[in-house]
Amino acid sequence: MKVLVFVEQRDGKIKSSALEALTVGARLAGSTADAAAVVVGAEAGALASQLAGYGIDKIYTVSGADFALYNAMTYAAAVDAAIKDFSAQVVVGVASPMGRDFFPRLAARHDAALLTDVISVEWKDGALHGTKPMYAGKCRAHLVSQNSDVHFVTIRPNVMPAQKTGTGAAAASALQVAGASAQSKTAEIRKGKSEKADLTEASLIISGGRAMGSADNFKILSECADVIGATVGASRAAVDSGYATHDMQVGQTGKTVNPNLYIACGISGSIQHMAGMRTSKVIVAVNTDKDAPIFTIANYGIVGDLFQVVPVLTKKLKELVGH
Ligand SMILES: Cc1cc2nc3c(=O)[nH]c(=O)nc-3n(C[C@H](O)[C@H](O)[C@H](O)COP(=O)(O)OP(=O)(O)OC[C@H]3O[C@@H](n4cnc5c(N)ncnc54)[C@H](O)[C@@H]3O)c2cc1C
Repeated sequence: MKVLVFVEQRDGKIKSSALEALTVGARLAGSTADAAAVVVGAEAGALASQLAGYGIDKIYTVSGADFALYNAMTYAAAVDAAIKDFSAQVVVGVASPMGRDFFPRLAARHDAALLTDVISVEWKDGALHGTKPMYAGKCRAHLVSQNSDVHFVTIRPNVMPAQKTGTGAAAASALQVAGASAQSKTAEIRKGKSEKADLTEASLIISGGRAMGSADNFKILSECADVIGATVGASRAAVDSGYATHDMQVGQTGKTVNPNLYIACGISGSIQHMAGMRTSKVIVAVNTDKDAPIFTIANYGIVGDLFQVVPVLTKKLKELVGH
């Protein structure tokens, strides 16, 4: 089966979640010859070599000024050109903000179904099957895309690990796609201040809740995060109180995260917060209330005042990493 993977890059850097998608794509294809990738961006050609070893034979690159800034229309046209050239039967992307934005448009172009945000995917009995958590993680939906020439799927970041197979030198081939004719043009992208990994891709997260008490107090979390390269998150109560920005919000109406380690400080563990972080591999909770619901899903719990516990944690981590 021919599988095409959309490889997301930002500012000339391949996203780690794109390598996860590549791994999924190579597995679905079953042979390097049947797996291809497409990279879109001003200098996409220069990135192809970074994809070697992920079990794909061919990389389509769509470059040029028209693709310098992300735009749903030009990106959909670029990936579509690769789908046609490769005669792809399955197209894999990531349920990142970008993937969520333009994969529906891509699937609509083919009048095909799109399995979104799946945590497992397989090809079985002539159809694409995926599993997706629903209702704040309380149940899992089994999704099937069938009776279609092309099937589309976006995977949840940080769930299916990227793995090099050691094969596939990946020859790059440049595709010419007209981007200037799109009805809309992205004039500018304004970046957030943070240089840290986006929450959805972070492998270490330390989050603060209402108990942080002020934006200034979030500094103690940033200090701790800096020691181990973690990203700082927040509960909605902290965001609504103006202590943290909305892009830091974890939960049902914020971001869904799957880090290796999630440290929740002064967060009670509402169903809506847990919906966004309960699949974290290890959860540590710091809370003064021993009956706080967060302790029901925490692997390690510390009953205590975060303003005492976090500085101690930071100090210990500094010792461990040799700062
Ligand atoms: C439709 C809808 C969508 C929502 N979406 C989200 C979402 O995406 N994300 C989200 O987070 N919430 C969401 N919420 C809000 C959610 O219901 C909770 O109100 C919110 O998660 C509570 O945040 P919190 O745990 O920080 O605050 P609280 O529930 O007020 O908890 C504060 C905790 O801090 C503890 N504490 C107090 N002082 C200290 C201290 N010094 N040291 C340690 N612990 C201390 C307390 O014991 C308490 O457990 C949503 C709600 C609705 C209705």
